[in-house]
Amino acid sequence: MGTMFRIVLYSDHSEQAHSAIRAAFNRVAQLDRELSDYKPDSELNRVCLVAIGHDTVISDDLYFVLQSAQHLAEQTNGAFDVSIGPVVRLWRRARQTKQMPDPSALSAAMQLVGYRHIHLGERTLRLDMQGMQLDLGAIAKGYAADEALRLLRGFGFAEALVAASGDISVGDAPPQKSGWEIGADSFKAPKDHFTRTLTLHNQSVSTSGDTEQYVEIEGLRYSHIVDPKTGIGLRYRSSVTVIANKGIDSDSLATAASVIAEQQGTSRALALIDRFGAKGVITAERDGRVTEGETKGSLP
Ligand code: ADP
Ligand code: MG
Repeated sequence: MGTMFRIVLYSDHSEQAHSAIRAAFNRVAQLDRELSDYKPDSELNRVCLVAIGHDTVISDDLYFVLQSAQHLAEQTNGAFDVSIGPVVRLWRRARQTKQMPDPSALSAAMQLVGYRHIHLGERTLRLDMQGMQLDLGAIAKGYAADEALRLLRGFGFAEALVAASGDISVGDAPPQKSGWEIGADSFKAPKDHFTRTLTLHNQSVSTSGDTEQYVEIEGLRYSHIVDPKTGIGLRYRSSVTVIANKGIDSDSLATAASVIAEQQGTSRALALIDRFGAKGVITAERDGRVTEGETKGSLP
């Protein structure tokens, strides 16, 4: 999935803990083989080639993640859309070459985007058009963190944390603590200085934004998050932190809220997070003005 996973847990039994951690990493590796779009032979990439026009049986994991992605696509009117793959690939290249994607390549790629062209049946997937490319980069890491945590709990290690870079899922609080202390950051913060600390247990937190991955071309910034309406990387700086019960939701909601914030403003983005029963903070910059907003009620 193009990232590093980190596991932390508390235990008096080092040996058992290590074998649980190994099992959790194996589960993450399995999910990488299923859900990654970086691996040419992942289940995701193989199925995109064969599911055109006919129902194809897929793994439980892929099915579960796609169901959740499609639900969010409907709820956001396509601001979150995992069929964005062909466009994301053009922007990945743009980040390397520092050149805008070729307009005709971009409009051809846009023809292949649209969550309504993804059809889920009973454990099956069907795609409408050849060349469609699904990209789970905004949802799979959160799910993988959830799954690793679930596995650790199954081994009896509930006081655990799983971090997939900006997507973190935590279980029970560490001994004698009320929760795991997680620093949350926005582009406003000086380097290595967190603007706030969240204390979480049995929850997940994800941050999306262009602080790490963007390209600057002719003085303009373009994020690796793409607006599916235009095919263009998000232009305004923003940082969205979402706290949800599950990583699959915090991860995908943070990305979806980033798109909505740019399309419709931060209050609509916060309303989306709220509608999913999650909490969030959004820092956004427009024409040199920085605004910060958060969902109702206090953050944990
Ligand atoms: P990160 O991968 O840095 O944690 P995100 O969770 O926000 O950040 O995911 C960004 C990734 O999501 C992109 O690299 C791309 O693979 C994918 N993506 C980009 N735009 C969208 C979108 N509108 N809907 C769904 N996925 C997207
Ligand atoms: Mg995300």
